[in-house]
Amino acid sequence: MTRRWTKEDRRLGMDRPIQRRDFLNGAALAVGGATAGLGLAGAAGAAEATPWPQDRPDYYPPRLQGLRGSHPGAFEAAHALRDGTKPGRVTPLKETYDLIVVGAGISGLSAAWFWRERHPDAKILILDNHDDFGGHAKRNEVVMADGSVRLMNGGTLMIDSPFPYSPQADGLLKALGIDPVALSKRCEDHAAYRQRGLGQGIFFDRETFGEDRLVAGLPDLGEDLPSMEAVDGFIDATPLSATARADLRRLLTTFPDPWPDLTSDAKKDRLSRISYRDYIRDVLKMDPAVVAMFQTFTQGEWAAGIDAVSALDCWGFGMPGFRGLNLAPGPTSRMSFTPRGYCVGASYRFHFPDGNASIARLLVRALVPAALPGSTADDIVTTRCDYSRLDRPDNPVRLRLSATVTAARHRGGDPDTATHVEVDYIRGGRSFSVAGAKVILACYNMIIPYLCPELPEAQKAAMHELVKEPLVYTTVAIRNWTALDRLKVSSVRAPGGYWTSFNLDPVVNIGSYSGVTDPTRPTLLRLTRTPCAPGLSEHDQNRAGRAELLATSFEIFEREIRRELGRILGPGGFDPATDITGIVVNRWPHGYAPERNFLWEPELPEDQLPQTVARKRFGRIAIANSDCGGGAYTDVAIDMAHRAVGDLSA
Ligand SMILES: Cc1cc2nc3c(=O)[nH]c(=O)nc-3n(C[C@H](O)[C@H](O)[C@H](O)COP(=O)(O)OP(=O)(O)OC[C@H]3O[C@@H](n4cnc5c(N)ncnc54)[C@H](O)[C@@H]3O)c2cc1C
Repeated sequence: MTRRWTKEDRRLGMDRPIQRRDFLNGAALAVGGATAGLGLAGAAGAAEATPWPQDRPDYYPPRLQGLRGSHPGAFEAAHALRDGTKPGRVTPLKETYDLIVVGAGISGLSAAWFWRERHPDAKILILDNHDDFGGHAKRNEVVMADGSVRLMNGGTLMIDSPFPYSPQADGLLKALGIDPVALSKRCEDHAAYRQRGLGQGIFFDRETFGEDRLVAGLPDLGEDLPSMEAVDGFIDATPLSATARADLRRLLTTFPDPWPDLTSDAKKDRLSRISYRDYIRDVLKMDPAVVAMFQTFTQGEWAAGIDAVSALDCWGFGMPGFRGLNLAPGPTSRMSFTPRGYCVGASYRFHFPDGNASIARLLVRALVPAALPGSTADDIVTTRCDYSRLDRPDNPVRLRLSATVTAARHRGGDPDTATHVEVDYIRGGRSFSVAGAKVILACYNMIIPYLCPELPEAQKAAMHELVKEPLVYTTVAIRNWTALDRLKVSSVRAPGGYWTSFNLDPVVNIGSYSGVTDPTRPTLLRLTRTPCAPGLSEHDQNRAGRAELLATSFEIFEREIRRELGRILGPGGFDPATDITGIVVNRWPHGYAPERNFLWEPELPEDQLPQTVARKRFGRIAIANSDCGGGAYTDVAIDMAHRAVGDLSA
C-alpha cells in the first residue's frame, strides 16, 4: 500500500527516496539478526552449507541506515528473557573454548586482548547480540550525494576522559598503535571552522523563548574570561527580555560570592547538594529564560539536564556562575582538575573519524588479523572489514554476531568446583550452547542476573541498581553545508528542541581520509537527543527515557530531524526536502554507564558501591563492562576488562 503523506510531510521531504527507506527497520534482510530461517541449517555442524549472514562476503553493517545503535533484532531475545520467556530447545554445538566473552564492545574485545596477552594460544569465542561489533563504539559509513564515503561515530565520540588513562588502558592504546597526543597534533584541524568565522550558536525556539531565532557566537563559557565584546554581541542578539539579558550578562561577566562567610570546602559541600538549576535559579536569582537556556547543557556529558546534576559537578564541567566563589582547585566526584581550570579532557583527547569504533576495529585487527588487514592507526580508518572472516572454525579467536546470550551456568559442580561453564545463546530464532573453561560477561550489568540466576542475591540487586542512561546520536548526510557557513555556526544548541544539539563533522585528516572544508561539498551532521523527564530523580529520568526511545519509530525521528533542521537552518537556505540525503539514527536505550549522583544517592565506601558488589568474580565467571567501573568512558571499559581477566587468573 502506498504511504499517504500530509502536505507538511511532503514539504519536509518525508516522501523523498533516501537510503534509510531500504533499511527502515534498521537492518537490511541480508543482515537481519533475528531473521527467521537464516542460518538454521548452520546449527549443529552444518554451518558451512548455509552460511550465517555475517559469513557472506557482502555482509557489511557499517553502511546500514535507518534505526541503528540498538537496532531491531538486537534486543528482543534479551527482553523476552527478562520478561520470563524460556528459550526453546537448545542445540549443543561441539565447540569448546578456553574463554568465552559475552559482549563485543570495547570491554569485551579488550578482555579477549588481555587474555591473549597472558595466554597467547588461547581459543576464544566472543558473542554479541548486535549485527556489528564495537558495542557503543559504532561506525557509521555513509555514501554521500557525490559518491564519496564519509565516516561518523554512531556512539562513542572520542578518546577523552575526565581522569587520565590508567597504565593498563594507556598501554593497550599504545599496543594498538594509538598515540592520542601525536595523532591529535597531526590529524585534527580544530581551527578549520573557526577560520571561516563559524562557532557555536543557540537556537531560541518560539515555544520556549517566544520567537524562533538562531544566535551565533556563543562565547566560551569555561573559566576563561570571555571578552565583553563577544558577550555583549551575543546577548544583544538574543530574543531574551531585558531582565533575562541583564541576568545572563551578570552570570557571564560579574563574579559575586553568594556565600562570603563560608570556606571553600563548605561551599563545595553545599554545591554538591543542590542541582545547577537550583543554584542559578534560587541562589544566583537568574530569570527563568536564562535557566531554560542552560537546561540541556549537561545532557551530552551526563545524559541529564541541569535539574539532575549537582552544581559542584557543573563547576567541574566549566559552567558559568562560580568564579566569584573562589573555590580551591581540586577534583569533584566525577571530574578531575586541569590547569585550564575545569576538568573536561583531563586525559589526552583524540577523535577518529568514526569515533572510538577505530579502537574496536584495531582490537579486532589484533584478534582476527585476516578480517582487517593493515598495520597502523592511520590505515584502520579506511580499511574495510571482511566480516566473513570473523567466525571461521580455524580462527584462534572467533567473533560471532547477532547472538544473544541467554544463560551462563557452571557445569560439573558448584561455582567453586565446576569444570566448565555452559553458555546458551539465541541466533536466528534458535538456541545453541557452547562450553568455555572460563567466561567474561562484558555485557550490560542489568542483563546478567537473568543469565546467571544463581548469582548471590546481593550481587544481583547491585546489578539492578545500575541503570544505564539513554541517548540518541543521529548521523544526517547533507548535500552541502552552505547554510551553516552563511549562518556562521559549526555547532548549535537547541535547548527547547527535540534534538538538543547538532554539529558539523569535525575536520580530521588521517591516512587517506580527509575532512570536508569546502562548504559546497556534502558532509555529515551529528544530532543528539537525550530523552529526559525533568522533575524526576536521575535514574527515573533514565528509565522514562529508555521507554520513550523504544517506543519511538524511525518515522518520528526522521520527521523531527527535518522539522528542526528546516527551522534552524532554513534562514541560511537549507531545505530539508532536498538537502538531506541519508539518515542513521543510532539509538542507545542502554547508553552511558551510570555514575554515582550525590543529589539522590548517599556516599558509600568503595567496597559497598553497587558497581564494586556487582563485579565480584563468581566461580569461573568474571564481570567486565563499563557499568561495573561506574563511569561511561572507554578507559573505564578497558580497565574493567583488565581487572576481569586478572580476577579469572587469580
Ligand atoms: C552515545 C555514546 C557516546 C559516548 N561517548 C564517549 C566518548 O566520547 N568517550 C568515551 O570515553 N566514552 C564514551 N562513551 C562511553 C563508552 O562508549 C563506553 O563506556 C564503552 O564503550 C562501553 O564499552 P563496554 O564494552 O563496556 O559496553 P558496550 O559498548 O555497551 O558493549 C557491550 C556489548 O554487549 C552486548 N550485550 C549485552 N547483552 C548481551 C547478551 N545477553 N548477549 C550478547 N551480547 C550482549 C551489548 O549489546 C554490547 O554490544 C559513550 C557512550 C555512548 C552510549
